Amino acid sequence: MTKLKLTLFIAFQLFYLNAKSQDILVEAESFIDKGGWVVDPQFVEQMGSPYLMAHGMGVPVSNAATKVNFQEKGTYYVWARTKNWVPGNWEAPGQFKIIVNGKTLKNTLGVTTGWSWEYAGKVKINSNDVNIQLLDLTGFNGRCDAIYFSKSKKIPTDAETNLASWRKTKFGETTVPKKQKTYDLVITGGGLAGCAAAISAAEQGLHVALIHDRPVLGGNASEEIRVHTLGIYGKFKRILKMIDTKHYPNGSFEAKYDQEKRDRNVKNFKNIDLFLNWRAYDAKAKNNIITHVDARHTTTGERIRFTAPRFVDSTGDGWIGFWAGAKFSYGRESASTYGEAWDEWGELWSPEKADNFVMGSSVLWQNKKTNKAHAFPQLPWASSVAKDHKAIAGEWYWEFSRNDLHQINDAEEIRDHMLRAIFGSFANAKKMEENKNYKLQWVSYLVGKRESRRLLGDYIYTFNDVKKHTKFKDAVVEEVREVDVHYQRNLKDGKQPDFLSEAIFYETEKYYIPYRSLYSKNIKNLFMAGRNFSCSHVGLGGPRVMLTTGQMGAAVGLAATICKKYGVNPREVYTNYLQEYLNLIEKQQ
Ligand SMILES: Cc1cc2nc3c(=O)[nH]c(=O)nc-3n(C[C@H](O)[C@H](O)[C@H](O)COP(=O)(O)OP(=O)(O)OC[C@H]3O[C@@H](n4cnc5c(N)ncnc54)[C@H](O)[C@@H]3O)c2cc1C
Repeated sequence: MTKLKLTLFIAFQLFYLNAKSQDILVEAESFIDKGGWVVDPQFVEQMGSPYLMAHGMGVPVSNAATKVNFQEKGTYYVWARTKNWVPGNWEAPGQFKIIVNGKTLKNTLGVTTGWSWEYAGKVKINSNDVNIQLLDLTGFNGRCDAIYFSKSKKIPTDAETNLASWRKTKFGETTVPKKQKTYDLVITGGGLAGCAAAISAAEQGLHVALIHDRPVLGGNASEEIRVHTLGIYGKFKRILKMIDTKHYPNGSFEAKYDQEKRDRNVKNFKNIDLFLNWRAYDAKAKNNIITHVDARHTTTGERIRFTAPRFVDSTGDGWIGFWAGAKFSYGRESASTYGEAWDEWGELWSPEKADNFVMGSSVLWQNKKTNKAHAFPQLPWASSVAKDHKAIAGEWYWEFSRNDLHQINDAEEIRDHMLRAIFGSFANAKKMEENKNYKLQWVSYLVGKRESRRLLGDYIYTFNDVKKHTKFKDAVVEEVREVDVHYQRNLKDGKQPDFLSEAIFYETEKYYIPYRSLYSKNIKNLFMAGRNFSCSHVGLGGPRVMLTTGQMGAAVGLAATICKKYGVNPREVYTNYLQEYLNLIEKQQ
């Protein structure tokens, strides 16, 4: 074992052991060697923890492996928390097995509808150190959340009703994380907005924590999702140049080069403490003031409580605001709510009655043309979504939103629907002679989101502000890029696949976003930057692109500096220190 692995091994023992009984719960994401499996922390709020997934694009991935210390020898019954992610009249796509001390347990897993405990088999444990492996059988997104070793053959059903608290009991977790850290500013979400907020605040001398649930920064711009940054730099060119991307095609591997630049530049700031692979899971407010944000490491399970006088929510999904009780909106407003109708486009632009359609989420993907033929299986579980659609790569318009699906609560279903669309469309395309040499090179497993919760500020930004080019006295962000709002193609033509979208473009001259849309209306010490800023559904259409959201982040970082200087909350920067704030922004170029 290498020194690093040994250290991790010792740390992970805490995460594995249940001190009170011989039963042992092993969180799959904390496996020491992930092999070809990936840690998926996107659905923690629904699942109770991240899980491991065999994202092999049709080729079984190498085994994940770990070592666990058993205090008692004897016979154990073994369960895995898993699911058949496409139940139906076909072989489950994500099948796998568990190997314990070299013995492959009898049952194939990943075969039951919905997340539940599946029985893997019985094993005799004769040593204290036990090796566990996950053996992927398909390469098609098998998933394992946790493994449970029990001395009795009783399925751990209570876990299904309240898994998060059951886990807490199993691990003997305290409510308050033992480790606490205090900062001038705590930023959650390391997309372009969060990165820009961290840099601008740090440049002014603030001690900043940036909490991000992925190993790399950039959110949708990261090499993991691969969207290029659009928009203008406004007053923040110098800052945004440290973290932006070139205009490579969506899904291109070139995202890697800008990734290195972004990560290096943020890490260079001594007063930014970067918490990569940490996911915030709670925030509490007292008298409408956030006192702390709690976060957990996505693989070790270690926890930290972050305290600060002020916080930034740049999670995209408005999580910090949501947990703290901030007012927010979701879905499309009725056209009359803010007077945003565009007659030419009718319902597709802004509906008569409010609904839950928003701009959808995407999974980008790429192919590689090789010198020889590559087989790809026919997939009945995928073709029921793809139908006869054929494609060898994806673009931004591979996008999914439905009135009955919530972009946060149903995000796993949305991601999985996109995976079925991708694998099925590729399988269809591979039947054609001209595509025989194509091979899947990269399919993201992270869902790239465009829209979900929008936190409400003192001002709600709408399409009218674009049309009128409202020059707010507190304008801190500016943009010239056209407004584009998306709709699902099948809303216009029922024969179109439901996973493809269309964009409606509105050409515009310069428009501005006011500072009052960047802090919460009712949570006194909360800023928001990014797609969860205060706006209507149509109002988000323009400013959601990443240089504009980056400007929001940079503006918020500077506002936090004024807050610190005078010991005030975000609103008072507007009411008492606006000119000083605008002067500070003016100096940034
Ligand atoms: C397919 C696609 C194409 C697009 N095309 C373009 C384009 O060409 N150009 C452009 O500029 N924009 C484009 N957009 C829009 C743009 O990418 C988004 O609007 C933008 O990324 C929003 O920025 P953000 O910083 O608010 O959120 P994100 O980029 O989503 O970043 C937020 C980050 O916070 C992290 N996070 C969330 N919750 C937590 C938590 N609890 N704890 C810790 N971390 C957390 C997430 O992992 C995420 O990485 C596109 C979007 C998609 C999906």
